[in-house]
Amino acid sequence: MQVRMQRRPYEVLFALGLTLVCSAQVEAAGEQSAAATSYAAAAPRPNDEDLPLQPPFEAAPVILPGAPPPRKRAAVAAILNSSRTVHPTPEDSSMPEPALRILLCASEKDAAHGRPGAHDYPLWRDRWARLLSCADGIIVDASDRWPTAEQWGRSDLVVFNSYNPAWALEKEVTKIEALGRDLDAFLARGGGLVFIHFSLNASSHAVALAQRVGLAWQGGVGRYRHGASDWLLTKDHPLAVGFTEFTIPDESYWNMTGNLAAAGADVLAASIEQNAPQPQMWTREVGPGRAFVSVPGHYTWTFDDPLYRLLIFRGMMWSVRQPIDRLAPLTTIGARVED
Ligand SMILES: [Zn+2]
Repeated sequence: MQVRMQRRPYEVLFALGLTLVCSAQVEAAGEQSAAATSYAAAAPRPNDEDLPLQPPFEAAPVILPGAPPPRKRAAVAAILNSSRTVHPTPEDSSMPEPALRILLCASEKDAAHGRPGAHDYPLWRDRWARLLSCADGIIVDASDRWPTAEQWGRSDLVVFNSYNPAWALEKEVTKIEALGRDLDAFLARGGGLVFIHFSLNASSHAVALAQRVGLAWQGGVGRYRHGASDWLLTKDHPLAVGFTEFTIPDESYWNMTGNLAAAGADVLAASIEQNAPQPQMWTREVGPGRAFVSVPGHYTWTFDDPLYRLLIFRGMMWSVRQPIDRLAPLTTIGARVED
């Protein structure tokens, strides 16, 4: 039997290098949506009663052993309710939230992580582009390996989840310096940077990446632990509001290149490795720009955990000086959550 692969409309959009619209709209409009460029204002806002991506947007299949059970919906709500107590809703909430252009930068899967179920950067970009594009005022773009000059210029927030081949495979120092200037210029105009998991991969150029984001991964030097699950949150970090604990089996790094204290970073989460706390999530202000880093992000199931999403979404919104829970309505859509 011959099976014919057919691209979904949003995959067509990516192939054409065009901006993604909310998938509910894309699927309704079919191929004609490839021409759509203005959509964010018309996108429905997801809430408990109106979840435009459910169905067909479900959690990604769990492929590898060791997945945690789905998160209880009440546990997610308790954190958000606590957060609202600390950050009350402004009296005039009728004002539209400012439009934000978010660029999701992934890469192909790397040879060292070729099996499905982890380090699936293309799957993350696909799913989170669909997810984010259904929030009010969020415009999602996608790129491979490294943003183009035009993408750097028009984005408010750039989120990397890849094996960072543009940096780690580069041999020429002058080209690394050019990549560093991209980050510097973006931060200097107030851009928000988010680096997830192996996007910290910088090979022999780890010092240059650490200068921007705090710490970077150098193969042969850094250490890792699959199955790390206890992420110790810094209670008074603003992004930890509402949390009492955060556990999920994923992967920790340590022995990374760089110095967070010297970089003026604030640690959000740590794990105990070799009897000492090691930073796993942190924030850093760089002039008018801001950077957020999360080492957790190895397994595909982690990206469907509502509480992990909440921390990453908070890091994203903090980096662009937005209310930290602006994306909170998206945490349970297509997530591993149950009543
Ligand atoms: Zn990993």
